[in-house]
Amino acid sequence: MNLRGQIFETASARSSGAELSLRAGHLVLTCQDDGEVAEVQLTKVSDRLAGTARRLHLTDGRLFVTEDDKGADAILAALGRPAGFRVFILERPSVRNLALCLGLFVTIAGGLYFGLPVAADLAALGLPDRLERQAGGAAFENLDSWALEPSQLLTASQDRVRGLFEQTVRASKLSFVPELHFRASELLGANAFAFPGGPVVVTDALVTLAPNNDALVGVLAHEIAHIEARHGLRRLMRAVGWTIIVSTLIGDSSTVLDELVAFPVVLITQGYSRAFEIEADQRALVLMRQLDFDPKAYEEMLARLYAPCGTACDEAGWWSSHPGFENRIEALTPAE
Ligand SMILES: [Zn+2]
Repeated sequence: MNLRGQIFETASARSSGAELSLRAGHLVLTCQDDGEVAEVQLTKVSDRLAGTARRLHLTDGRLFVTEDDKGADAILAALGRPAGFRVFILERPSVRNLALCLGLFVTIAGGLYFGLPVAADLAALGLPDRLERQAGGAAFENLDSWALEPSQLLTASQDRVRGLFEQTVRASKLSFVPELHFRASELLGANAFAFPGGPVVVTDALVTLAPNNDALVGVLAHEIAHIEARHGLRRLMRAVGWTIIVSTLIGDSSTVLDELVAFPVVLITQGYSRAFEIEADQRALVLMRQLDFDPKAYEEMLARLYAPCGTACDEAGWWSSHPGFENRIEALTPAE
């Protein structure tokens, strides 16, 4: 393996013909002028660029210059040194290099896509309770101003539901009792929903639809489970994306509060994820058993909520924020 070129003396423009060769793994320089033959080592090599001579710097300060790119690459490869990868890409976009770039892009994009739920959860779970409740309260006021009307339920009826709610909260892991609001709503029909850190809203139609206390406890326990696991914030963080997540992680909570005011719209139009719903259902069953209520009543209540609208449920009412009736009934069954 021989490489022809010119050798320049240290800090001099004077050059003479020379040859670099590889002998038994050693790099040997042969100068044509004086017949010098010496083992040499490289300090640095210029990148490969079309139309430019390669410059190989020797440890003794001399410079070897050659037009033979392929020969230089072959010697560098034999010595186990990279052959100027960065510039090589600019010069000739081979399939291999394009594949490398594409691979890098897919890796980064995949990391962002699959890393999002993890980062969103970290941001949501790291937010202080006080801020979560402040945000939930603001979001409730927002919804209350355009979608909810005062409840027509009798006080006795409200007191009964409130008693069941407080009993369920005490059985949960919550360290506080979220606010409970009774509202009428033509828009939302028979419905119940939880905001981050509370409040929980129950519509008159839902209370009327529930055949017994067991059924009500099932729905209330489901909403309490959403608060326990911070599903609202976690859902929101996934919806708002990286900008807000990063600002939350670095401690700028004010941006999150602004986003949360728009939360009811997100919750009602897009709903929780199927995984969050099933998790809340399962937790509701555990709380019901713990409190000696009949878990079967919860399944029957879900069927009652689903019955009036059928598949159209996915478009409106409780099912728009609680999607996938068939899936959820299926998920409930083996747990019983
Ligand atoms: Zn739910």
